[in-house]
Amino acid sequence: MDLGIRGRTAAVAAGSAGLGLGTVKALAAEGVRLAICGRDASKLQTAVDSVDGEIIAIEADLASPASAREFVEQAITSLGQLDILVTNAGGPPPGTFENTDLDAYQAAFDMNCRSMIEMCRTAIPAMRERGWGRVCAITSVGVKQPIEFLMASSVARAGLTSFLKITAREVAGDGVTVNSAQPGTHWTDRVAKIVPDRETAASSVPARITGDADDFGAAVAFLCSEQAKFITGTGLLIDGGQASGLLD
Ligand code: NAD
Repeated sequence: MDLGIRGRTAAVAAGSAGLGLGTVKALAAEGVRLAICGRDASKLQTAVDSVDGEIIAIEADLASPASAREFVEQAITSLGQLDILVTNAGGPPPGTFENTDLDAYQAAFDMNCRSMIEMCRTAIPAMRERGWGRVCAITSVGVKQPIEFLMASSVARAGLTSFLKITAREVAGDGVTVNSAQPGTHWTDRVAKIVPDRETAASSVPARITGDADDFGAAVAFLCSEQAKFITGTGLLIDGGQASGLLD
């Protein structure tokens, strides 16, 4: 299926590994020109070298909303304009009510909520003017069903999800869609740091497998496609059946 986005431009935050890199691969395969960011220049270069396509690497620390804004500004300057924005970052460390202090909430809000908001604030106005844009935030199954050992992550992403919903409705009339892709358990560096092994990770997933970053990226690419123009304000669970709730 041709997603109808050949020649479009995209910024994928934290695109040097994991779910971000899976997304970069899927968009590059559709002929999208890309900018990606990360903190580590050599890791960024390895990612660029691993993907067949036109990709610019920009160093940025998404723990800082100002740095997140600069990433999008540089992406716009380098690519000429930005048609697609995929917001993403690392994940906050695990913690429960008992052992999550106030600073941990602040850090999670800065990286997983305020930096994401700032990237949207930087990219969306020009998309609206041109009458075409796609925004997809990589969040978590934790926004559907909070994860008790990822307190700060779950709390920060719930706030971001409200922002995305309100923004989606506000900009829908200008040809800009705003959605999120909500990963369950995918076997990436992030999950390998939290769960001892892949088998254990899969054991809590109804599908009895862990997710694959490239499959995840393909789903994000679809949300950024021409054909997805009528899909906005939604959160797509990609979780092998992990979330048990009925409501979106
Ligand atoms: P990952 O750790 O495999 O990759 C994250 C990427 O972000 C890496 O390239 C890393 O270098 C980069 N990064 C980390 N901190 C950064 C920072 N401050 N500034 C710039 N770049 C930074 O993680 P992942 O599994 O791909 O997860 C991506 C996001 O999805 C995370 O927020 C994670 O919490 C969330 N998530 C992942 C899963 C999963 O199963 N993998 C499930 C739920 C939510």
